[in-house]
Amino acid sequence: MPEDPEATRAYQRAYREENREKLNAYHRAYRRKNGKKLRQQGRERRRKNHEKKLKQEKEYREKNADKLREQGQEWREKNREHLREVQGAWRHNNPETVRQSQKKYSDSHQDEIRTKARVYDRAHRAEKRAYQQAYDARHPEKVEVRKEGKRRWNTKNHDKIRAQERARQKANLGRYVAKNAARRAQKNGAPVNDLTHDQWLEIQEAQDHRCYYCGKRRKGKLTQDHITPLSKGGAHTLHNVIAACSSCNSRKGTRKPPIPVQPLLLTVAPAKKRKAS
Ligand SMILES: [Zn+2]
Repeated sequence: MPEDPEATRAYQRAYREENREKLNAYHRAYRRKNGKKLRQQGRERRRKNHEKKLKQEKEYREKNADKLREQGQEWREKNREHLREVQGAWRHNNPETVRQSQKKYSDSHQDEIRTKARVYDRAHRAEKRAYQQAYDARHPEKVEVRKEGKRRWNTKNHDKIRAQERARQKANLGRYVAKNAARRAQKNGAPVNDLTHDQWLEIQEAQDHRCYYCGKRRKGKLTQDHITPLSKGGAHTLHNVIAACSSCNSRKGTRKPPIPVQPLLLTVAPAKKRKAS
């Protein structure tokens, strides 16, 4: 065999040509004998190539993400009608999947959804009310049906409603008290009616949440006592209000305070820091 590579290749070519029949027969025999192994190798090669192809495609997508996104967007815009049809049909054919995915979303976004609804309702309150009123005027019979439904619901959920009401009152007790007191004062024709809820909190803190008369600590349960009773023309204002426990308050009634009271001190008493309410 010659040493020169060019000559070697020419020699091999000539050899193959000369012995084609023989070589083909040999290959056929080999394939017959090793069919299983060859098929296995083929499968492996295809699998390897497939993986390589996937890898290449993935690399391409990563490298051209922006471009592809743009193209996708363009395509979707161009085919909006088509897409809507396809998606609508899919949703129609897969109602259970749609339900599940909606439920999954609403379960995991409860707070967000609730907040959004609240914000929306608040922003459109007047609008909604006007719409409702106009609707009701057109459909008086529906108003009756709704009222009846509400009555039924209320009866059915009586305990729940009561519990909610109590919880709300408890959370806003201070404000309820302040509001009621102001209403009472107005009814009694108080000359001044300007005690705020914050001032009432200040008074209680200045008294360390103790009854002014008996000195017992009754945090959150103190009542407003008017030094000069409202019925005697007293004002519902900072300088005429002290905090007393309910039993001292009712014992005093409309009489003079059982001990001297210096309400002006309240304005110079250092109020403790408290969280903004
Ligand atoms: Zn008391």
